[in-house]
Amino acid sequence: CDNLLEEPIGDCECNVAYVDSFNNKKIFPVLASLLFKSYFRFYKVNLFKKCPFWDDTEGKCSFQNCAVKEFPLDSLPAALKAVDDNLKLNYKPPAKEEPCTSSREERLSSINDTISTAASENIATWQEHDAKMGSYCAMDEEQPDDQTYVDLTLNPERYTGYIGREAHKIWRAIYEGNCFKTPRTHGLFSDTWNVEGMCFEERIFYRAISGLHTSISMHVSLKYLQPTAEISNVTGNRIDSIGTWGPNIAEFHNRFNPTKTNGNGPEWLRNLYLLYLNELRALEKAAPYLETFDYYTGNSEEDIETKEAVQGILRIIKSFEHHFDETTMFFGGQEAIKRKNDFRLHFYNVSRIMDCVGCQKCRLWGKLQIQGLGTAVKILFSPSFEAPESTVFNLKSKEKAHFKLTRNEVVALFNGFGRLSESIHGLEIFRKLHWS
Ligand code: FAD
Repeated sequence: CDNLLEEPIGDCECNVAYVDSFNNKKIFPVLASLLFKSYFRFYKVNLFKKCPFWDDTEGKCSFQNCAVKEFPLDSLPAALKAVDDNLKLNYKPPAKEEPCTSSREERLSSINDTISTAASENIATWQEHDAKMGSYCAMDEEQPDDQTYVDLTLNPERYTGYIGREAHKIWRAIYEGNCFKTPRTHGLFSDTWNVEGMCFEERIFYRAISGLHTSISMHVSLKYLQPTAEISNVTGNRIDSIGTWGPNIAEFHNRFNPTKTNGNGPEWLRNLYLLYLNELRALEKAAPYLETFDYYTGNSEEDIETKEAVQGILRIIKSFEHHFDETTMFFGGQEAIKRKNDFRLHFYNVSRIMDCVGCQKCRLWGKLQIQGLGTAVKILFSPSFEAPESTVFNLKSKEKAHFKLTRNEVVALFNGFGRLSESIHGLEIFRKLHWS
């Protein structure tokens, strides 16, 4: 799908219509039902981490719509907790507890060390480093005490009322602090990025983040609050609203219409498709690995259904004809190694910014989607996934099969992809609303 990635869509085999039809007819309906299964519904997350970049005691969204309904730990199926606590996908009692050899600080300082000496490192060292680090995100597993389980189906991503300066501060921090080149600024925000000046990997990084932004905006527009009542405080000021959620085409136009976005709306929408293709390819690449799991929750009937549903979706994904080719990235010796390191560092930073999001529900979905994308990137670029599939994915060959995903990563990967799939499906809804 190179044309889709680099040029205006429309005149190649892999165009918007092709992806739309693939997603809306084949993927979206089955994925939406898969994500209601117990294995995928419960996400473990720390929503109370301190923002590492600025004082975030102000700017919190106190609207009811921002609040996350937590799931009491006691009500969680015991087996699911056990799977998660072991950080393994297949539930097997651990033969022997392995001590944690490095603290979070040690691991972080190992990132910094490696960056400063990146130029002199060789590929083998990097591959070792990758295998050790594995992750492109700040993982909540590092602070297990503050984590909670959230039932994602009770907390749909939708309009929350988190708007204005605080929300813009986060987006600005994400783009200006982590994208690679200084943007040209238009008015309130950096509307145009000089994508031409970026190298391929930098463009992909920027466009992936922008695609995520698009997906969030799509959900805000698709599930917009249509208030039925407003709640005021004693002085008569509106402090909250209640109502129903549904598509709001005016909101969609505000966010994507070329005339309202300085001409950028269509490109932002294309970035959603790019991100979709990235994650689609990661799922295809990891399919032999993901197909073998038991998706264990303790309810054997549902577990079988879940496994079969996952296998069915992976079969459909494998039938897609224009998968993203990640081997075109990070190509070319030392310079490429440095670019890969920058990529990882920027990604890591974005995942930490998520702890600064002042609306709990937005933070939940922001963290999940960044973890999902981080997992996809890990699948695409970790050396443990580069060996021939027959060795890496043969789980019996223990010494080779050292690539592991935690349950939470798998949940984030599928749910993150589910967000993108729903956004692309949502575009169809807006198209119909527009023409009617
Ligand atoms: P914003 O979406 O805030 O965008 C700011 C500026 O970024 C725009 O003016 C434009 O210049 C640029 N921009 C916009 N879209 C793109 C793009 N796709 N690519 C590149 N540049 C772009 N709100 C909710 O109601 N529900 C949620 O679940 C939710 N989750 C969020 C999660 C995160 C991580 C963050 C940071 C915010 C979230 N928000 C959520 C807030 C939401 O994203 C918007 O910030 C808010 O609705 C205000 O929108 P806006 O029109 O002012 O522009």
